[in-house]
Amino acid sequence: MKVITHSPEMQQTALALRAAGRRLALVPTMGNLHAGHLALVRLAKQHADVVIVSIFVNPTQFGPNEDFQTYPRTFEADRAQCAAAGVDIIFYPADVSEIYPADASITVVESALSQTLCGASRPGHFTGVCTVVAKLFNLTLPHVAVFGEKDGQQLRIMRRMARDLHFPVEIIAGPTVREQDGLALSSRNQYLTPAQRAQATCLRRALTEAEQRFAAGERNPQCLITAMWNLIAAEPDTRIDYIAIVDDETLAPVLEPITRPALVALAVWVGQPRLIDNTVLRP
Ligand code: AMP
Repeated sequence: MKVITHSPEMQQTALALRAAGRRLALVPTMGNLHAGHLALVRLAKQHADVVIVSIFVNPTQFGPNEDFQTYPRTFEADRAQCAAAGVDIIFYPADVSEIYPADASITVVESALSQTLCGASRPGHFTGVCTVVAKLFNLTLPHVAVFGEKDGQQLRIMRRMARDLHFPVEIIAGPTVREQDGLALSSRNQYLTPAQRAQATCLRRALTEAEQRFAAGERNPQCLITAMWNLIAAEPDTRIDYIAIVDDETLAPVLEPITRPALVALAVWVGQPRLIDNTVLRP
């Protein structure tokens, strides 16, 4: 396994691999790897013969009051996990300037799908995500890129960006990996106290509640949202950012009745960390 820390070397390596006929997959991450990331690596291996994992805590996708400074950075453990998982290349930019020249003045702005959900509560977040992923695509030149369904809005925006900007990259989605009690794995779960960790199962419990009511015939989005809201608000350390039911394709709010696939997405602070999860309802 090779660790590449400089952007020009990354791009030259990718060009040489492509010239040699190799098929490349990129798994973009911010490090602090867990079983969810490693599942994406396994999926990437099914679609390519060279797997590149990028590890870069991207400053531009954090808001001024978010956790950029304290985001867990655990490169040695990440490196060992990547080696064990059969990753071929880790792209680990030595410095932010490898990705953002000091006078960088170009960004990638998505202006439709990013208006709701996390995009509404984290202004600029998806501009940061689109910009860094566009750069990573240009540096690693992948044939396929793998993203987790856990970040449902991000996944849909990545598909839209690849389409709109004509990146010759196939976007592949990996299912959300969960703890046994349903909590989606996340680097931010480690900030939960034991009591909050128990309460944090309410995200998945709320989604299951919506799935069950939907299966029983409920088609009114507001009724589903209210049921989820009550379940989450019953936990003492929760503060709801949003609970929304949006069209799975446009991410516009769904009006009654639900007749097309709908993304149910929620973001909840449980104590300090803000956790997200989602599911899709298919009529
Ligand atoms: P992050 O390092 O948190 O930015 O995530 C990197 C990639 O891993 C993104 O595509 C995420 O959607 C994905 N991911 C994060 N958590 C999970 C999970 N529990 N299951 C599957 N994929 C995940």
